[in-house]
Amino acid sequence: MLIHSASQLLTLAGGPQRGRDLGTLGIIEKGAVLMRDEKIVVVGTSAELKSAYPDEPSLDATGCVVMPGFVDPHTHVIWGGDRANEFAMKMAGAKYLDILAAGGGIISTVRATRTASIESLIAQTRPRLLRMFAHGTTTAEAKTGYGLQTATELRLLKALLALDDESPLDLAITFLGAHAIAPEFKDDPQGYTDLVCDTMLPMLKGWWETHAPELALPFVDVFCENRAFDLEQSRQILTRARSLGFPLKIHADEFDNIGGASLAVDLGAASADHLVKTSDADIAALGKSDTVAVALPCTPFGLAEKDYTPAQKLLDANAILALATDCNPGTSWNESMQFAIALSCRYMGLTPAQAIAASTINSAHAIRRSDRIGSLEAGKQADLLILSIPDYRHLGYRYGTNLVKQVIKRGRVYSVDVGYYRTA
Ligand SMILES: [Zn+2]
Repeated sequence: MLIHSASQLLTLAGGPQRGRDLGTLGIIEKGAVLMRDEKIVVVGTSAELKSAYPDEPSLDATGCVVMPGFVDPHTHVIWGGDRANEFAMKMAGAKYLDILAAGGGIISTVRATRTASIESLIAQTRPRLLRMFAHGTTTAEAKTGYGLQTATELRLLKALLALDDESPLDLAITFLGAHAIAPEFKDDPQGYTDLVCDTMLPMLKGWWETHAPELALPFVDVFCENRAFDLEQSRQILTRARSLGFPLKIHADEFDNIGGASLAVDLGAASADHLVKTSDADIAALGKSDTVAVALPCTPFGLAEKDYTPAQKLLDANAILALATDCNPGTSWNESMQFAIALSCRYMGLTPAQAIAASTINSAHAIRRSDRIGSLEAGKQADLLILSIPDYRHLGYRYGTNLVKQVIKRGRVYSVDVGYYRTA
């Protein structure tokens, strides 16, 4: 199929964009792209491709931007229950301890997740994935982490594999058994750390090789913060995971700077995520590494906090910057990368072009798939968006509504645009 006449076709060609190179969109005016068998064959101008492929079935994108599908490289999309009550309490002025006393916080989600069947977890997560897809996310990372006990964490992995199979978008799965200290270990964080290292990770390895032998091993992630896993416990978990062959990720510097970002660099992690309180030394280390700095602007927004990831410092340090939604029930229930882009422009000082590159080719690199997705180039997977906007700068500028008209995943076209009124 030939998609042609796009007012702008954004290729994002040339690989991950480091530092001040961020925002190189590779725009083709009146652009076209030819897809066959789930892959992109060629990209060019409409005049060139229409004359070279006159008999190809075609899709007219007049007046629209065509670009790679969004890659959301940090989500906690699978969980049980919700925390709407807690949000209402917070907005009414309740303090963190009041909410904990009322049974709120992450542990309430852990409780709801532990008691949910696999069928229920799949049914609760499916509409979130479909909303992501309708908003243009064609690949999403998805973490476990609301089980905090071996059996539930495995149930979450099973559910994620089933959802990856059934849904149009692709999932990159991450094991986050070290999301928080399990409630049974609240006075013994080292005991829970040892359980993750000595029981969960070896079991995960064997389980994955039996249940998903055709897939690469999942990422292993850790929440490195005060009151979660300290720097030494984080190092213990990630070092153990690396020795078992798992690729790594880390949650670092959301609330305090305790050295997680430099640990990620030292261990060759694919990404370090949050990075709000990151020190200048840690930023410099990221800038000299291939560890992607993933900013999650929906999270401070969700918490009504004022501090965001210092994107300008990261770009000055030559880091590879990416954006994600952090979709989760406590701090950021948002499925839309378009909204993350809008926030990053206002609160991190990104231009729309920089935010788009951070949400496609760079976010693909954060899950180590930039060789397959994240740009429109010959040989890559045909994952792309047709947006009902004439100019890419409408992304970021506009927010709160969906600008996606069609999502194309592995060459299949899905229409999501409403575009008309319908009466009952
Ligand atoms: Zn997270």
